[in-house]
Amino acid sequence: MRCPFCGNIDTQVKDSRPAEDHVSIRRRRFCPACGGRFTTYERVQLRDLVVIKTNGRREDFDRDKLERSIRIAMQKRPVEPERIDQMISGIVRRLESMGETDIPSKQIGEIVMEALARIDTVAYVRFASVYKNFQAADDFDKFVSELRPGAAADK
Ligand SMILES: [Zn+2]
Repeated sequence: MRCPFCGNIDTQVKDSRPAEDHVSIRRRRFCPACGGRFTTYERVQLRDLVVIKTNGRREDFDRDKLERSIRIAMQKRPVEPERIDQMISGIVRRLESMGETDIPSKQIGEIVMEALARIDTVAYVRFASVYKNFQAADDFDKFVSELRPGAAADK
């Protein structure tokens, strides 16, 4: 696993244990080149999901992107990190068990909003307001940067 700080390929695993949700293994890694420490998660890929964007383009489902957008919406909210992890795993399991490998991006957004609404109203409103604006544009990177706290203040 390449070090995210210095790019060194030869990193060491210091500790491995099941993550909170028990569907992944959490590994703490150490980079002997720069002393950096980071954590990786190993999980079973049940199916390879494809996202169908509103413009018809297909894109491999990216759990990290989903996770990033949710974490940004949840920023500084009084919710346990473990609870957020469980929610994300729950969303992914739902997507994986839908019976289709091709999933419209709109449907993913709705599932995320539903999950957020149950866990934290503020995070839900943050996500939903940005999601609805960008649904037409369907530009996820723009979406994520808009969600980032402070983005609104820059305008
Ligand atoms: Zn390094």
